[in-house]
Amino acid sequence: MPGRAGFSRHRTAPLAFARLRREMHELSVAQNILEIAAQHLPSGFAERVQSVRVKVGEMAGIVPESLEFCFGALVEGTPLQGSALFIERVPLRCLCRSCKEPFEPRALAFICPQCGSADTEIVSGRELNVTEIELADEDGDAS
Ligand SMILES: [Zn+2]
Repeated sequence: MPGRAGFSRHRTAPLAFARLRREMHELSVAQNILEIAAQHLPSGFAERVQSVRVKVGEMAGIVPESLEFCFGALVEGTPLQGSALFIERVPLRCLCRSCKEPFEPRALAFICPQCGSADTEIVSGRELNVTEIELADEDGDAS
């Protein structure tokens, strides 16, 4: 409705822009997820996708709600419309290289609680993987 909401347009545009900026990362991640799904689907199977499962590490820098929002927005009007995105969070885990003690760092302090060594490595929590694409039965037959 051009010319109708002149005032509110000026007030809401920067807000919308801020939200887009904030979710730019999730948006590109959602785009990647869709590309990966497309690569793994034989042609014509996209309509049958019921859900896509992803593993997202705590340290991957992803806000799950944002990712869900972006995924839903991207599949709108595509063969994948209506498919769900399930996000499995993977906690941050470290391993001490000195004493081999596995631990979950607190407050991002990567110090081994066992021996105090700072020689530690992150073993999980940074992943961002598509783990499963679930398809609906072709003929919908329920056994
Ligand atoms: Zn240690």
